[in-house]
Amino acid sequence: MQKCPACKEPLQGKYWCQSCKTVLVCPNPNCGERVRKRGSDSCAECGMLFEPYIEQRKKVRECPKCKKRQGLLEQRCRACKYWFNCPTCGHKITSTSSLTCPRCATDLRR
Ligand SMILES: [Zn+2]
Ligand SMILES: [Zn+2]
Ligand SMILES: [Zn+2]
Ligand SMILES: [Zn+2]
Repeated sequence: MQKCPACKEPLQGKYWCQSCKTVLVCPNPNCGERVRKRGSDSCAECGMLFEPYIEQRKKVRECPKCKKRQGLLEQRCRACKYWFNCPTCGHKITSTSSLTCPRCATDLRR
């Protein structure tokens, strides 16, 4: 049986450790990205916060700009209007200061 790399307890599932809550693979069914930075509280790929999912199966993300939590499927922060993904091409916007999409140049200030 596989062991948790953080606390060495046997792993019950492939996504996270039951005893120390270290997440190894993003549990979002649409993502499944391996968590490279141990101890991360959210997925670097899809942005989902791990703790609300583990506790309540809630898919939420935190806005990198204003830190408000909202549904993972939101494309745009309802509070500060920050785009998580480009409304035109779906490209993930990683910089909170970009004014246009780095891939298709859509204006993100609308
Ligand atoms: Zn553990
Ligand atoms: Zn993910
Ligand atoms: Zn926001
Ligand atoms: Zn775009």
